[in-house]
Amino acid sequence: MTADGTADPRRRVPRTDTLLADPPVAAAVATHGRDRVKAAVHRAQEQARRGEITPEGVRDAVLAALSAPAPRAVLNATGVVLHTNLGRAPLSPAAVAAVVAAAGHTDVELDLATGRRARRGRDALDALAAAVPDAGAVHVVNNGAAALVLAATALAAGREIVVSRGEMVEIGDGFRLPDLLASTGARLREVGTTNRTHLDDYAAALGPQTGFVLKVHPSNFQVSGFTSAVPVRALATLGVPVVADIGSGLLAPDRLLPDEPDAASTLRDGAALVTASGDKLLGGPQAGLLLGDADLVRRLRRHPLARALRVDKLTLAALGATLADPVTPTRAALHADPSALRTRTERLRDALAADGCKAEVVPAVAVVGGGGAPGVELDSWALSLPESYAYPLRTGQPPVLGRVAHGRLLLDLRCVPADADDTVRAAVLRVPADG
Ligand SMILES: *Cc1c(COP(=O)(O)O)cnc(C)c1O
Repeated sequence: MTADGTADPRRRVPRTDTLLADPPVAAAVATHGRDRVKAAVHRAQEQARRGEITPEGVRDAVLAALSAPAPRAVLNATGVVLHTNLGRAPLSPAAVAAVVAAAGHTDVELDLATGRRARRGRDALDALAAAVPDAGAVHVVNNGAAALVLAATALAAGREIVVSRGEMVEIGDGFRLPDLLASTGARLREVGTTNRTHLDDYAAALGPQTGFVLKVHPSNFQVSGFTSAVPVRALATLGVPVVADIGSGLLAPDRLLPDEPDAASTLRDGAALVTASGDKLLGGPQAGLLLGDADLVRRLRRHPLARALRVDKLTLAALGATLADPVTPTRAALHADPSALRTRTERLRDALAADGCKAEVVPAVAVVGGGGAPGVELDSWALSLPESYAYPLRTGQPPVLGRVAHGRLLLDLRCVPADADDTVRAAVLRVPADG
């Protein structure tokens, strides 16, 4: 140790009040309470005094100790509305409140009036049925893939599912619908070709072994050129049940997405069963929606596998709230007015300029993302920064994710809540000027 002690790293361990005044640590006090944060501070200070961490690392050690082992909230400035890697649809404030309210004991499976067991999640299911009156009955499982697995198992195990070769799709991360369906014990009977399939192709494949005809909406790619596919309306004339996997979860048509099938129209076209995701264009929690013929849905609901795919009470709470107020953040991001986005982005640029940070506002193109509507381009605007901002923004607190193009980092505010613009500004300003 030196005479005045300043070179001793132990003397450089930050003081408790300094740490508690640090904004993220102060924010943690609001969440976790002062005692818990102080205990974490003291532990980290001790670690630094023992030389296990550096004095500079104390703050991060405190924050790391306090952060739950859970996915971290991030700001999605990618311009991809439904980003699977970022958790797809963000819940609406009403859905978040419903999840919080449902986190304790609930009446999820109990009728309070009679004191008896009741149908699980009936409020959310009733809301779904009310939203799509064309459905005779509805059921909800864990996700869109689970909805397909349940339909295939209950209606076609040991039998055949007739499907066009143009609809044998991979849904992401190496998972393929044909493999998923085959895993249920149903056999896939492929008909037609990659680019063209006709009604006759389906008709020729039907027989006593047919469980159902499957129509899959290609929600993540487009084929163009010499193509033809058979619409649900024509398939419904074949005399066997048609199961339509519409993917995106649109319950009714959306003028912005004319090529995206919706549950109501698909049922009116004659589908016996529609399957869809809850966390794509519907803008709700991860869930698999099953809507259609009352007898078919009852069979699915009573199948033993249904118990393994049972949906959580938190999901039911979020789904009910989403259906009660369908103006979700996803819908808002999808329908955001480009000129309003431009104004927001220019305001952000000007605020940054006032603090000496130079950025540009450039036209950009946003997309719906893996959740549907391939090929739809949404006119947007972005804040353009040097690419060197990408890493510090992504690893900052909160992480801000943009899109890198042509050596620039583009921040598109379309999917950033309007009240978070200032958080983006602060995050950009925290990046050291030398990048
Ligand atoms: C997204 C999608 C699925 C899978 O749904 P998950 O909710 O992700 O399980 C299946 N089929 C289609 C057409 C899809 O778009």
